[in-house]
Amino acid sequence: MKRFFCQCGQEVFFENKYCSNCTQSLGFDVKSLDLITIEPIDSSLFVDPDGRHFRLCGNEIDFDVCNWLVPHESAQRLCFACQFNRTIPNQKVIDVNPPINYFRWYRLEDAKKRVMHTLLSIGVNVNNGWSDKESGLLFDFLESESNGGSETTKVNTGYAGGIITINSLEADDVARTQARTHLKERQRTILGHFRHELAHYLWDKYFNELPMSRYFSDFFGEEKCDYRESLDIYYENGPPKNWPENYISAYASAHPSEDWAETFNHYLLIFECLDTAQHIGMSNTSPQGLRSEELIDAWRELAVKLNQVNRSIGLSDAYPFVITGQIEVKLNYVASIISEFRDAQIKK
Ligand SMILES: [Zn+2]
Ligand SMILES: [Zn+2]
Ligand SMILES: [Zn+2]
Repeated sequence: MKRFFCQCGQEVFFENKYCSNCTQSLGFDVKSLDLITIEPIDSSLFVDPDGRHFRLCGNEIDFDVCNWLVPHESAQRLCFACQFNRTIPNQKVIDVNPPINYFRWYRLEDAKKRVMHTLLSIGVNVNNGWSDKESGLLFDFLESESNGGSETTKVNTGYAGGIITINSLEADDVARTQARTHLKERQRTILGHFRHELAHYLWDKYFNELPMSRYFSDFFGEEKCDYRESLDIYYENGPPKNWPENYISAYASAHPSEDWAETFNHYLLIFECLDTAQHIGMSNTSPQGLRSEELIDAWRELAVKLNQVNRSIGLSDAYPFVITGQIEVKLNYVASIISEFRDAQIKK
């Protein structure tokens, strides 16, 4: 992600609503992918330095949870990113202090917007499921609920039929760490969940129709092999012993479509991290326009540095994964699919 600056020169950040130096109001403009300064005209209307008019997102007005702007001419009350929501964590539970569901939703929104920013920057444009019933995307942020008795409805993070469901407990650090330990994962992040589930969505609604999709099984194996059975076997027996040679994560070995989703997740991570690193001067290489092989080489170099810095702080490795030759080939395939999709979108 690029760097953002207030009019006063102060550096400001993607999630900011105000400049910490001059207190100027800020908002994210999805059209220019920029965090811009805005000046109030009246109680609901704002103007930017170029004279464009905006409103705050309805989720900011009602819940204080969003810094994306709505162009004044838009008929929508919510910003571009918030229009993808179908279910949000229940904000009516206000007797809890601190308001847990507010913080969970805030963190989920932050991760969702980051991944949307990445998609928009690489030219993968998707529609929300309200405006595009056929191929659009919607998010359900749900929590496991007790029905009053001993039973609870358990929510699984996952994708089905245009809906990405995220268990909102994933926004709770303790719960997420417990899940990571239980599942013996090297890393578990909210952002990673979004990237992973987006991979399933994009494959389901768009990528599987691309000419390149016919080579899927050459890289990941037969996608049609029974999903439930493969997952059951994985949870029963664990990953194959040599999984690190062939898979970016143990879970990727569970089924070809999980391997695809995990590989796509890492591709977006690599792209996003290199982009940020280049903008802040940590790397000379911009990922835009790089061949996939060059991208991965640049990332290997940067990841080692990041891990060293983390170790110096006393933290776990920033990137506790190894990209082997086998995995690199799959990442290259992800890059080709994205580029084919982008070209097809441009032609439309
Ligand atoms: Zn400022
Ligand atoms: Zn919004
Ligand atoms: Zn999955």
